[in-house]
Amino acid sequence: MNSEPPPGRPDAFGTRLQTVTERELLLAPYATFSAQSQGRRYPEPDHPYRGPFQRDRDRIVHSAAYRRLSGKTQVFMGELGDYHRTRLTHTYEVASIARTMARALRLNEDLVEALALFHDIGHPPYGHAGEDALNECLADDGGFSHNRFALTLAEELESRYPGFPGLNLSLEVLAGQRERTSKLDRTLSADRSSLEAQVVDLADSITYDAHDFDDAVKLGLVTIEQLLEVPLVREAADQARARHGNISGKLLRMAIVHELIDLQVGDALDHARQVLRVLEHDMHRTLSEAHPSVRLGHSIAIAERKRVLEDFLYQNVYRHPRLLAVRAVAQARLRSMFDLLTQNPERLPVRFRERAKNVGWNRSVGDYLAGMTDRYCDAVHQRLLGYGTDSGPGCGPTSPR
Ligand code: MG
Repeated sequence: MNSEPPPGRPDAFGTRLQTVTERELLLAPYATFSAQSQGRRYPEPDHPYRGPFQRDRDRIVHSAAYRRLSGKTQVFMGELGDYHRTRLTHTYEVASIARTMARALRLNEDLVEALALFHDIGHPPYGHAGEDALNECLADDGGFSHNRFALTLAEELESRYPGFPGLNLSLEVLAGQRERTSKLDRTLSADRSSLEAQVVDLADSITYDAHDFDDAVKLGLVTIEQLLEVPLVREAADQARARHGNISGKLLRMAIVHELIDLQVGDALDHARQVLRVLEHDMHRTLSEAHPSVRLGHSIAIAERKRVLEDFLYQNVYRHPRLLAVRAVAQARLRSMFDLLTQNPERLPVRFRERAKNVGWNRSVGDYLAGMTDRYCDAVHQRLLGYGTDSGPGCGPTSPR
């Protein structure tokens, strides 16, 4: 019996482990290579068989904040059933689509996965309703952003390792998240993003456009017939019927979700191939010189159709009376907790009373509340304020979204 590995293939049972550099030989020249990593704030020796971005991915998955995503609202809260996405399942769908795109483009999949699993880790309870309420409560203290809070969690609040505070992630992962914060705060050009970070941004939008369609129809907030008036959905339905015949109902809804993802991913990859071709013919420039001119995105046609779908979802789903009612209760709950804890800081956990010495009482209360799952927030609210207090004055009115 021949025990030699097939010609041209490495011996998988050889005497040494494959190095990260060897694994990354398949990456495109414009990818982010592990060997180029700027390292970590607190230097650590290399791991014997995991690359730096693999370790980041693992640290994120093992963090408490990541686990808590399972109890945090994406768009639809627990009161509406158990079919819809949570913040965790959204995150994993983003990671899955982002990895697919990164693999097709020969970018660094480990970095993309770490960025994707990290991108929503700073969301407070109750989704954007919670974020808006905390932002208003902290308006005089710099506001609240889930993108910034992700960095606070990763650099300060997570406590798992004896040698350093936070997760001590690679600077590339922190930079990718910082770019999201800067872009959304409109204080810094997004053009600095690594290609891997840009892929995650695209995958995030592709993912929520598809799954919010699915969840909204399943929950009965809108009908498929209404959504078939939206050009991108109609195109997806046409593709689904061309592939599967004259399907309807649940089968059509599921098939449209698949086609929505396929349409958008295919378009983004076509667009990326055209944009990246410039880089392949311009390799005399360093990558850092070349990257700022490269923006991944969608074709004009798909970008416009996505905008119409997102407008439809905003008007008819995110502002649906059933969601607005749940949103109002959730925001009042957070506001009343914020008011009570800032006025009675002795009721904060010791850890956050200590933290207040560095960041102030308001910020520390905000951080405490932002780290909670929806259910834990409900329980603490009941403990602090009891039943029947969901319409307290709080810190001011909020605009629905
Ligand atoms: Mg997201």
